[in-house]
Amino acid sequence: MGNYHQFDVVVIGAGGAGLMAALYASKTASTAVLSKLYPTRSHTGTAQGGVGAALGNEGEDHPEWHTFDTVKGSDYLGDQDAIEFMCFEAVQAVYELEHYGLPFSRTPDGRIAQRPFGGHTNNVTGKPVSRACYAADRTGHMILQTLYQQCIKNHVNFYDEYQVLDMLIENGAAAGVIALELATGELHTFHAKAIIIATGGHGRIWEITSNAYTFTGDGPAIAMRRGIPLEDMEFFQFHPTGIYRLGILITEGVRGEGGILVNDKGERFMEKYAPKVKDLASRDVVSRAMYLEMREGRGIGGKRYLYLDMRPETVNKYAALDGRKRTDGSPYMVTGEELLSKLPDIVDFARTYLGVDPVAQPMPIQPTAHYAMGGIPTNKLGEVVIDEGNTVLPGLYAAGECACVSVHGANRLGTNSLLDLIVFGKYAGLQAAEFSRGASFQTLPSDPTDNIRQQLDLIRNSDGEEKAYTISNEMKAVMFDEVGVFRSQEGMQKALDKVHELQERLKHVRRPDQGKIFNTELINTWELGNLLDLAEITTVSALRRTESRGGHAREDFPSRDDANWLKHTLAWNKDGAISLGYKPVTITKYQPKERVY
Ligand SMILES: Cc1cc2nc3c(=O)[nH]c(=O)nc-3n(C[C@H](O)[C@H](O)[C@H](O)COP(=O)(O)OP(=O)(O)OC[C@H]3O[C@@H](n4cnc5c(N)ncnc54)[C@H](O)[C@@H]3O)c2cc1C
Repeated sequence: MGNYHQFDVVVIGAGGAGLMAALYASKTASTAVLSKLYPTRSHTGTAQGGVGAALGNEGEDHPEWHTFDTVKGSDYLGDQDAIEFMCFEAVQAVYELEHYGLPFSRTPDGRIAQRPFGGHTNNVTGKPVSRACYAADRTGHMILQTLYQQCIKNHVNFYDEYQVLDMLIENGAAAGVIALELATGELHTFHAKAIIIATGGHGRIWEITSNAYTFTGDGPAIAMRRGIPLEDMEFFQFHPTGIYRLGILITEGVRGEGGILVNDKGERFMEKYAPKVKDLASRDVVSRAMYLEMREGRGIGGKRYLYLDMRPETVNKYAALDGRKRTDGSPYMVTGEELLSKLPDIVDFARTYLGVDPVAQPMPIQPTAHYAMGGIPTNKLGEVVIDEGNTVLPGLYAAGECACVSVHGANRLGTNSLLDLIVFGKYAGLQAAEFSRGASFQTLPSDPTDNIRQQLDLIRNSDGEEKAYTISNEMKAVMFDEVGVFRSQEGMQKALDKVHELQERLKHVRRPDQGKIFNTELINTWELGNLLDLAEITTVSALRRTESRGGHAREDFPSRDDANWLKHTLAWNKDGAISLGYKPVTITKYQPKERVY
């Protein structure tokens, strides 16, 4: 067989989750990482604000408090055993990154610096606590560089710019993956005992998004086509502060450093919606408040944006009103230079994309599609589970944004994704290596590339007149309007009908470039198929859930309904027909309560 490779463990994706998994798997097993991007271009590199861990370096903090905040932030849909595991592992995981050489920002006495983030609180006072460990506003960049260096040191085998298009499951166990070498157009078969999916998110479904162009949900789409269900896909997070019209993210760290949200009347409107933590309420709460302000005509100049104000005079005024103190007990005051040194990239983005100097002027912002809470179901060891009874699929693992453990439930807290990557990436890597020690390779079908070649040929030989980018734009617009911050039966049905129409039209796309070398047209069309399939499963899952919880807010069912809906959705796509099932939420210590911020 030409283009055949064999490894104990194959990792798909070289972001924070994939690299952490590879680092741990490679300690005992032969390990390959396949990535459609050069590893350090992965989206993890854009993460700005920080990684959450209750180190207590800047005020009292405890892993128990982090656990409770995450459960509450998840609107009680997160599995509490997994959340507790993550929050207690967090402290060690951050020190481990420090020891690998990650250049964290420091407190004056040399410890890892920490700042407040939405939903992270002192559980006694209810006030914001400093829990986000950061390297200026380049935390993800530093994580990615640090882990990549460690992987190189450990001789992990990298296949850069190899895009995985299919996965093989034989005898009910993981058997291998098929990847396209982008530089040559050749298909390669990777025979593996264990596979770890770490392909990141799918935010390119929506028009305004903070997500990279490559966030096309390849991992979940491939898994779904091989019979694996997707969990809680109706829960997608809209981050409150994307740059107006562009969606590029302005980190929540700006509000952590004291920035506030302002409407057209100059009011700090979050005081009304979350009297205790105000601008640092959880993201679902803030995004909804912004929509309500704009709907009631208080967007800036009546338009669909608001201001994020981080001018030192504003920060200092509100910090004094809130009684905010520094760790040494002195009043919290900032200067322009300080903000510049803590948020250099944000200042740069605002100057470049908005022509605004954020130390002198407020920034125009709007909610932006940001994070997939749903994905490939796993347990807390990263093993993929495939039904209501959490049956494990032997040899298959998932970690990072493409996975649903579920630690984020219906809404993720800021800084908990980078944490999720390093904790569950590590355990997925360890488990996969351990599994591969006792397992043998599954026998592959005689032509393992047959299935994907047929899929690609359908696109290559298409003879229609449809343009992929028109289909993509129509999907993004309808999903942003109807399956966004607020949802309704009527709107979502309209979106679903549109998605079905677009799936049909994609079959009649204009014949693409027939070349073999870096054929981006072919690949982008295949990726658009993934986005449409995930848009469909998201909307079907959302239509069925007749309640509001976390990131899923329905105008026709405005309350949370624990009696009927305290459960995870599982959605299967069997040959184009979607079916839904449900499984219970794991509750250990914290009984569901109303969320008050
Ligand atoms: C702008 C921005 C800022 C953020 N800031 C923060 C923050 O401050 N704190 C926080 O906790 N979270 C933050 N997040 C969220 C967090 O960064 C992401 O959820 C996380 O980095 C995703 O990591 P990952 O390893 O799952 O995926 P990624 O880092 O995106 O990596 C995915 C990898 O999969 C590969 N891949 C994808 N498809 C294929 C395929 N078909 N074949 C082969 N390879 C494939 C890609 O090449 C890439 O290497 C932010 C997100 C964004 C977008």
